[in-house]
Amino acid sequence: MDNIEIKKIILDLWDIFGEKEQLIIALEELAELQKTITKRLRDINNPDFNFHDMVSELADVCFVIDQLIINYQLQDRVDEMFTHKVKRTKQLMELYKE
Ligand SMILES: [Mg+2]
Repeated sequence: MDNIEIKKIILDLWDIFGEKEQLIIALEELAELQKTITKRLRDINNPDFNFHDMVSELADVCFVIDQLIINYQLQDRVDEMFTHKVKRTKQLMELYKE
């Protein structure tokens, strides 16, 4: 499945179910990822930890984040802000090393 097809599905999804419903689902998916992170924290020393649930929730969250970016047409702004935040983090890391 290519990016054009994914974008069409995402736009159709919001047309069919509506912005409000998809925002509720986004919040639910973020909460589900939060739960899997908590499970990992509770089992942090387990070398055999099963990441299946976390992989599933990460995919769900990627999907809802893509929905927000595409439907609000924020790709360029998010890309710019992402780069800014990575650079800022790199600078903080360099200060921490000193
Ligand atoms: Mg989920």
